[in-house]
Amino acid sequence: MPSEFEIIRRYFTRRTHHTRLGVGDDAALVRPRAGQDLVLSTDMLVENVHFLRNADAHALGHKALAVNLSDLAAMGATPRWALLALTLPRADARWLTEFSRGFIALARRFDIDLIGGDTTRGPRAICVQIVGEVPRGKALRRDGARIGDDVWVSGTLGDAALALAAIQRRVKLGRAGFARCAQRLHRPQPRLALGIALRGIATSAIDISDGLLADLGHILECSKVAAHLEFADIPCSPAVRRQRNTAFGKDVLLAGGDDYELCFTAPRRMRARMTAAARRAGVSVTRIGSIERHWRGWPDLVVFDANGVPMKITHAGYDHFR
Ligand code: ADP
Ligand code: MG
Repeated sequence: MPSEFEIIRRYFTRRTHHTRLGVGDDAALVRPRAGQDLVLSTDMLVENVHFLRNADAHALGHKALAVNLSDLAAMGATPRWALLALTLPRADARWLTEFSRGFIALARRFDIDLIGGDTTRGPRAICVQIVGEVPRGKALRRDGARIGDDVWVSGTLGDAALALAAIQRRVKLGRAGFARCAQRLHRPQPRLALGIALRGIATSAIDISDGLLADLGHILECSKVAAHLEFADIPCSPAVRRQRNTAFGKDVLLAGGDDYELCFTAPRRMRARMTAAARRAGVSVTRIGSIERHWRGWPDLVVFDANGVPMKITHAGYDHFR
């Protein structure tokens, strides 16, 4: 069995590209570029909460970093450095090889240096800290949505939640449909290019990790506004569309987490620029509603069905303590 230091050296020490001092000292040293704000976030994955014991280690390595990158995408930031804190029940060489490959492959794709971390024994948990940059004052925050703005989402929603439901045998999917949805659940693609393209166009942004209603709800709360959405306009894959008219399908689309798409707002006059920015970023974006004035005592989020009738909304997303 490799020792703690062999693990760090063998699996997690890689050449860096834009770091003054990386893995191996008491702390890492980095220098942000001139005119940039640092953007920092951390996210953790815990066994039996976010993944099961037999989860594919390569996919876990990918996802542990991807969920952090998604947070930076939602800020309009460029990720630059990552730190990785790992708690493992034992030093399983095969698991470490696969996990580190999944992690490092995604890090390379976005030119992110792994500059440190911590490795200890205990119940399996993975904690990544991500550090990025954004030009001063250009970050996309949750508190900038304005009355009259459009509400947009990237990609399609509900695939990851549908895959999870299929794994838990709450729904049956065809083989190809399941494969596509499972890919979204296990290997989410952070929308970094889109986040960067939204600088100067979007007024607010968030990544959808807990479900559209819950996450858009955070924008509404921070911005002190309300929103009207058109259910029929929410983009989804054919597999989700087939379920869309059932209570289950409605839940998957409105409250399903783990898709890691972006939800954002922008003034109406930005529509043409938005479409061009999305095309440059190689992601589809869809307008799903509008930002409205919030009246005290009224719900801040109303979803209209195809007949223009407000839908009954029961379940708004995942909360670890409820
Ligand atoms: P310390 O005892 O000073 O906290 P450690 O022995 O925990 O130092 O770590 C030694 C070096 O290896 C440090 O630079 C730390 O950042 C790095 N490191 C530890 N674990 C990991 C890991 N899983 N991935 C990347 N770097 C790591
Ligand atoms: Mg340490």
